[in-house]
Amino acid sequence: MPSDLVPAAPAPVPAAPASGRSAPDHRRLGRELELFDTDPLIGSGLPYWLPDGAAIRHALEEFIRGRERRAGYRHVYSPVLGKRELYEISGHWEHYREDMFPPMDLGAEQVVLRPSLCPHHALIYRSRARSHRELPLRIAELGGMHRSEPSGVLGGLTRVRAIQLNDAHIFCTPEQAADEAVAALRLIGEAHRALGIRPVRYRLSLPGEGGKYVAAPELWERSVALLTEVLERSGVPFEAAEGEAAFYGPKIDVQIADAAGRESTLSTVQIDFHQPERFGLRYIGPDGRRHRPVMVHRSVIGSVERVVAHLIELYGGAFPAWLAPTQLVLLPLSEGEREAAERLRERCLDLGLRVEVAGPERGSLGARIRAARLVPYQAVIGPREAADGLVALRLRDGRRPAPLPAAEALDRIGALVDVCSPELWD
Ligand SMILES: [Zn+2]
Repeated sequence: MPSDLVPAAPAPVPAAPASGRSAPDHRRLGRELELFDTDPLIGSGLPYWLPDGAAIRHALEEFIRGRERRAGYRHVYSPVLGKRELYEISGHWEHYREDMFPPMDLGAEQVVLRPSLCPHHALIYRSRARSHRELPLRIAELGGMHRSEPSGVLGGLTRVRAIQLNDAHIFCTPEQAADEAVAALRLIGEAHRALGIRPVRYRLSLPGEGGKYVAAPELWERSVALLTEVLERSGVPFEAAEGEAAFYGPKIDVQIADAAGRESTLSTVQIDFHQPERFGLRYIGPDGRRHRPVMVHRSVIGSVERVVAHLIELYGGAFPAWLAPTQLVLLPLSEGEREAAERLRERCLDLGLRVEVAGPERGSLGARIRAARLVPYQAVIGPREAADGLVALRLRDGRRPAPLPAAEALDRIGALVDVCSPELWD
């Protein structure tokens, strides 16, 4: 089996920290590092993102869009609202209503905040006739959705009522579905490795008791058989769990755990025969007849809120350079080097780097270095550096490369950031 097919091996579930030592908590770090916050007037479960948090989120969203583009996905935007009828067709109204906000009356019609992106993407597929030559059609969106969580369970970024989901739907022939799901699982593994995320478990989520699930036994069996094949071909150990499926079908869930050992689902892959039927989706086959496509639902990093919460705790605020809110801080020794620092700042901005100048008005050099301890790169600019156009870098991990011409130092940082390197220097 080619090794790139194998997602990263599951990590052991972290043990709860010994008493007296507190686990990294993204809510506390989020406040201290000014990444996000909430306001009672906006409401609980509705965090807003401060500039530094927004910078992380933006980098992450661009990272995932880039990976998806390379994997053949096309991106769309669709609205966070839809008419009630749309969710009656999809089955959400019947099977998922308790997790949805109540509908809003708009004269003769009712609209609801969407609980998922699938119905909108099914309509985008259905917007014109499709040929088998267009398949697999991979439609991706980082889009908003809403979940009416009870206020007691809300907290930080992990349980929210407004969710930004990294989502995609692959419309394909039944013969293509397993290959597409294997490729989605591989994309998930690659993205996790790039982000430093180690899943604790791959779970095959099956239906449980009760009327929560659509009744179509043959379709469930087909999906379960295909997902089992996908997991086996991908070479990952997995566990089956009853009662964890989506209402319309089984799914592969990639589980992560926080420092306290609490598990949650980050990424998913689903093979769905149900919604294509509900929406009457078709494609014209090589035989000139109309056929039913399959929908592969998949999310690589899940909700942006949850993955950022995980990354905050994983790195304790010391993010890889490509994700760091401030990548480089420039430290002029005195006012005499201010102008050189400002010129360097302009060059960083031209290169797309997130840069800050921390001048002597912010205290002694030692104090400024301490204040910037989470910033990947610090550049002290003394009289010699200013005169010779050099940069003396201090890396966050304590390394101090020999002074370099400014352009060379910035190019090297820019190159590491461009490839989303986990390393600070090479
Ligand atoms: Zn979906």
